[in-house]
Amino acid sequence: MVSLQLDGRTVVVTGAGQGQGAAEARMLVEAGARVIATDLALTMPAELAVSSSSAGALVYRQLDVSDASGWSELASWIESHGWQVDGLVNNAGITQRSRLLDASVADLQRVYEVNVAGSLLGIQALAPLMGSAASIVNVGSVAGLTAHYPVAYTASKWALRGLSQVAAMELGPRGIRINTVHPGFIETPMTASAKPEFRQATLAETPLGRTGSVEEVAGVVLFLLSPLSSFVTGAEIPVDGGQSGHGGAKSVSDAMR
Ligand code: NAP
Repeated sequence: MVSLQLDGRTVVVTGAGQGQGAAEARMLVEAGARVIATDLALTMPAELAVSSSSAGALVYRQLDVSDASGWSELASWIESHGWQVDGLVNNAGITQRSRLLDASVADLQRVYEVNVAGSLLGIQALAPLMGSAASIVNVGSVAGLTAHYPVAYTASKWALRGLSQVAAMELGPRGIRINTVHPGFIETPMTASAKPEFRQATLAETPLGRTGSVEEVAGVVLFLLSPLSSFVTGAEIPVDGGQSGHGGAKSVSDAMR
């Protein structure tokens, strides 16, 4: 069947309290999924309010993705409802803007705990509850495709790519797919604190000449969770307005106009 509908499917989204995660959770509910939206906050963030006429449903659970026991509790809670997990979006991530000669081991550890270990723990906890045709989407970054200057964040997103590829290989025989989306500059609370110079320089490197919206990332995530992408696994999809595709050639092209 050719459809982006996710009726009857249960999807867990991490870091869903705001930004891209909230948009993903809302769009997945519209597509008919039962969404288990998780974030650090104890109670459901306002951004997760969905219309009562939505096709699916949303439940909120507190979860720190770096906490293995939190993942075990979530898995037990899902099991106690008799639900199978059909999708997981490892969206939670933190940034860290120290540069090469200033970055500390603690900086590296902090971003790795959330951006890399958080995704590993999620896969480990929920894969046992997944049937064939389940789909996992890891949220990387153009930082994981380039030499983006914040070294700890960049190294964590490159590491996440490795994790994704191993997971795609290991879980493929069970029919479980794992893909990665790599957002460019997306307007969210995370990027709201970026310096104007960063915004300007990024736009100069982006062929579409603008920043992206959270819905533009959520749409690709929905595609990867849907049956329309049933033969896609181990893929990496930049959602970056072309920022990573030109490999540094844009400034040369612009100079020759
Ligand atoms: P965001 O606005 O900062 O939202 C991230 C959410 O994750 C927040 O609600 C945050 O909670 C939560 N979170 C942080 N640490 C967590 C933890 N340990 N466990 C569970 N939840 C946690 O970020 P975003 O811009 O939507 O980014 C979402 C993902 O896209 C991240 O993986 C990010 O690296 C990636 N990304 C973003 C961009 C961009 O331009 N925005 C570009 C490339 C990649 P608190 O607010 O309470 O900390």
